Amino acid sequence: MPAPSPHQSGATPAMAQWFAAKAEHPDALLFFRMGDFYELFFSDAEAAAAALDIVLSHRGEHNGVPIPMCGVPKHAAETYLARLIRRGYRVAVAEQMEDPKTRASLKIPIRREIVRLITPGTITEDALLEAGQPNLLLALARGQDNVGPPWVGAAWLDISTGIFETAAVQLADLPALLGRLEPAEIIAPETLALGEWTPRRGPETVPSPPLVARRRLGDLFQTASIEAFGTFSDAEAVAAMVAVDYVRSTQAGALPRLARPAPMGEAGVMAMDAATRASLEIHRARDGGILHTLLAAVKHTVTPAGARLLGSWLAAPLTDPIAITARQDAWSWMLANPQATIRLRAALRTAPDVVRALGRLSLSRGGPRDLAAVRDTLRAAREAAAALEGPLPMALAAAQATLGHELPIQGTLTAALTDPAPLRVDDGGAIRPGYDGELDAHRSLRDDSRRVLASMQLDYAQKYGVASLKIRHHSQLGYVIEAPAVAVEALRAFPELTLRQGMANGARFTEPGLSDLDRRITEAGDRAAAREKLVFAHLTEATLAHADALAARADAIALLDVAQSAANLAAAGTWCRPVVTDDDQFLVRGGRHPVVEAALAGQAAFVPNTCDLSADRRVLLLTGPNMAGKSTFLRQNALMAVLAQAGLPVPAEEARIGIVDRLFSRVGAADDLARGRSTFMVEMTETAAILNQAGPRSLVVVDEIGRGTATTDGLAIAWAVLEALHSSVRCRTIFATHFHELAELAERMPRIRPHTMRVKEWRGSVVFLHEVAEGAAGRSWGVHVAELAGVPKSVVRRAASLLSALEKQNGSLAVGGALGALPLFAAAAGPDDDGDEALPDDELRRALTDLDPDRLTPREALDALYRLKALLPAPAGDQD
Ligand code: ADP
Ligand code: MG
Repeated sequence: MPAPSPHQSGATPAMAQWFAAKAEHPDALLFFRMGDFYELFFSDAEAAAAALDIVLSHRGEHNGVPIPMCGVPKHAAETYLARLIRRGYRVAVAEQMEDPKTRASLKIPIRREIVRLITPGTITEDALLEAGQPNLLLALARGQDNVGPPWVGAAWLDISTGIFETAAVQLADLPALLGRLEPAEIIAPETLALGEWTPRRGPETVPSPPLVARRRLGDLFQTASIEAFGTFSDAEAVAAMVAVDYVRSTQAGALPRLARPAPMGEAGVMAMDAATRASLEIHRARDGGILHTLLAAVKHTVTPAGARLLGSWLAAPLTDPIAITARQDAWSWMLANPQATIRLRAALRTAPDVVRALGRLSLSRGGPRDLAAVRDTLRAAREAAAALEGPLPMALAAAQATLGHELPIQGTLTAALTDPAPLRVDDGGAIRPGYDGELDAHRSLRDDSRRVLASMQLDYAQKYGVASLKIRHHSQLGYVIEAPAVAVEALRAFPELTLRQGMANGARFTEPGLSDLDRRITEAGDRAAAREKLVFAHLTEATLAHADALAARADAIALLDVAQSAANLAAAGTWCRPVVTDDDQFLVRGGRHPVVEAALAGQAAFVPNTCDLSADRRVLLLTGPNMAGKSTFLRQNALMAVLAQAGLPVPAEEARIGIVDRLFSRVGAADDLARGRSTFMVEMTETAAILNQAGPRSLVVVDEIGRGTATTDGLAIAWAVLEALHSSVRCRTIFATHFHELAELAERMPRIRPHTMRVKEWRGSVVFLHEVAEGAAGRSWGVHVAELAGVPKSVVRRAASLLSALEKQNGSLAVGGALGALPLFAAAAGPDDDGDEALPDDELRRALTDLDPDRLTPREALDALYRLKALLPAPAGDQD
């Protein structure tokens, strides 16, 4: 944020105005309109010049010191704004509130006012927004009742589309909500920690008390009680009003069109925390890009609103099989009716992003193109409705009913607007000739001028006897007669002609009739412009009267788009409709990872794999060497649950998925170095979250946990976590590990099924088959992987001979042998056919049980780890 500005005393009148405006929003950059530019001064100028890479200059002096200044031209302001907003700046825009031409006095500076504060969560311009993504402002308020765990009321809205939703969430689930919404800006009490989302925090505002918030919300939406829209907790109502007030404060009091607030409740949504979302790369890849993501792999939408809806489906998969089936039915119908779908798709392609256009229109920031977007949407809506025929599933029937209804505004807009319409009203030509008589009259006077001037020129030439005389427009003199040098003397004899200017080869004269025409033409132009603005304003008002009906059409179009996108995915026959049930089955036959598969396309075939987590085989333990495909398998099955519950097709031959209430995906620290966090600590914190939050209906995929530390502790931790998932949490689990020793646990825990990535030895080196097979990896393939990676042959040979020597010496180092000798493993070796018995009473185990990862500070966690490690006797062989 810019540094504070100098004191204002001694400022010139214009600068005094600047100081006053700046004081309204000291933490924002001030765009101060001066003619065709927005100027920035003092530290604002320095910050903006650096951020925008534009020239920093100076203008006048303040208290004897030159004032730093930079500026951006008005017509290009959006591009610069976009860059500033993306860098986290907030920008206050001060406009000139009077026309410099018509203002009362030249002595006082033009009146300027802040018309808007542009912040990341309150933007409406297409240039500043990403088409396929929502741009949410989130407000949070603490739940006030002191029973149960702490919770917050959340309200989020997108002023560019009018979305307005609320939820009450436990504080522990706040990170999951933030991960799902990815808000652009967050308004929250300062005492509420936002973790990694802190940079998105906006200024704190003063919330209304609950009763006041409820009443004000009710007033806003003209209802006696907001309970008419659903049940809101006090904190949700407070948060909703905070959001509304904040938006109003940024729009200089104006409020955009907003849908009625809809309480969501978190009940119907699959919970995924931020770590899970990040590791599954649903919306964003690890590198921050959007190319190699689940969303990109399934996206066949043709409209921006469709892309946003698809994104929100993936962000919040459902947990109600009935709602999921309704979505499936919609795209299944399209799959079965390809002709209708082709027609539908053609109609959808012509549908503009109408909710964003409505957002701008409702803030008086819209242009002719936004009205044209309404017109074109209504046309596309009717065509889309017509494309759907025959008996339709519920969701499609509802969409068709919404879209098929004609809105009277469609005829008006079609008659009124040119096609294509210009971007701004000021550009002129937005209103069709023939729509408004008065506008036409002004225009014809303005436009006829050329014809009128041509005939006047002829008249003058005849009257004054100078054939080569011309009428020209001159920037200062207006319309003039230009005569060649030979004719000048003769013309001076006419009293009505005034010589105004000599030229090298002639002279310029003015004439009263010509001046009069000049004035009338300019006036007609001004009148036409003013009239066009007025007509535009009327059309805008008439359109906004139908805002809700238009938004409903936009929603229906988005739904049809997502459905056709899903049908498109399934059309090739390699994606199927999963059976989603209200139980805890999980069977995916021939499943694939859509993103890895896409990345491989053209180079290698993706090997499909089956995953069965039935009741007697809840825990799939996957071992195998590096690069064999473990991580891919894990994630593809987690993605299967996300896709299935989002109501979309899945990349498999067959899938039967019992509702997953919470999905956890964890990647071991060593595999996650790119995130640059203190790795092992993070890994343990995230693991703690699973063990505390997962339940019997959850799906947990754990990848290479315990790798971020020395072998022995890593193994111990992986062991303990696996045991807890199997015996206490009892959820569906896929657990990948390079500790192939863990496969031995299957003998002690009945619901573990060891699997391994098949590897073939071929002429002394390994070939990965990427095939998941039941059974344990008999040995580590590390030596072979070393060879693949280019470790010198001599070293690989030496390692291979050491390995076989070690194996002979210990019987089997991997299974039983050295490992069985560890007290930890011996302790766990007792009978455990059900896993529910009290755990053996050994010291290490007690120490682990006593640990409550949720209550540990990072420092304590580290200490605890050292304690645990100290409890472990030194291993027989050096395992590191
Ligand atoms: P691991 O976790 O076992 O080290 P990965 O899952 O990261 O292995 O996979 C390594 C690479 O192997 C992937 O980037 C991909 O190119 C390839 N791969 C993984 N699974 C498959 C598969 N089922 N079919 C084809 N190639 C695969
Ligand atoms: Mg891996």
